[in-house]
Amino acid sequence: METLEQRVAQARENIRAAALEAGRDPAEVTLVAATKTQTDETIRAAIRAGITVCGENRVQEMNAHLAENAYEGAKLHFIGRLQTNKVKYVVGKVSLIHSVDSLHLAEAIERQADKLGVVQDILLEVNVGGEEAKGGFSPAETQTAAETISQFPHLRLRGLMAIPPICVAAGGNREFFVKMAQLYVDIRTKINDNVSVINCLSMGMSRDYEDAVRAGATMVRLGTTLFGPRAQKAVPSHKN
Ligand SMILES: *Cc1c(COP(=O)(O)O)cnc(C)c1O
Repeated sequence: METLEQRVAQARENIRAAALEAGRDPAEVTLVAATKTQTDETIRAAIRAGITVCGENRVQEMNAHLAENAYEGAKLHFIGRLQTNKVKYVVGKVSLIHSVDSLHLAEAIERQADKLGVVQDILLEVNVGGEEAKGGFSPAETQTAAETISQFPHLRLRGLMAIPPICVAAGGNREFFVKMAQLYVDIRTKINDNVSVINCLSMGMSRDYEDAVRAGATMVRLGTTLFGPRAQKAVPSHKN
């Protein structure tokens, strides 16, 4: 059976190959381990296996792992949907929030960062597939939102993040990755002061990270391919 070390090494190798194929420097791409539902032990094992960044989705799980120092030796990012009433548990504790999906949320993070006297690094989440059920800025409004938010004194806009529609067909999300890469370039050139600061494009998950890297991702968020399938919610079983 493959070990966690082998899966981490394989993912890194695939990222490297995809980057080289696209004429990119593999060192530009950071592997973020999506650690939702994993135990403290697994997170520690992943860090021993070379993971340098953990991405968490749920505030409660994150706090439990923090209390056990499970992320020691790695950076911590927040990648899940963040409600404004939970902002106080995240700001100042993570080095990057990927999932800023509204101006309202950005304002709440700004207020909390101000209160703590910190500057919080963030990405704007783009609803690149225009999905009704998903949060995030539409591609058309991203530029204006980026300009507004880059003026907030306690936020540092580092780039963009996207979760394209779930797509079963191989290569199905390429058009979205290419669209994100274009938006990212537009924002980097428009917000001139921040050209060196805006250097993060977070996109690509287990199914499609190589396509994302070929299109220009600087961060891929991998769960299943590193840790295996996540346990499903228990389904009530029929009594015989
Ligand atoms: C779970 C999750 C991932 C990783 O998904 P996999 O398909 O298991 O690689 C990436 N990004 C976010 C925001 C997630 O919630």
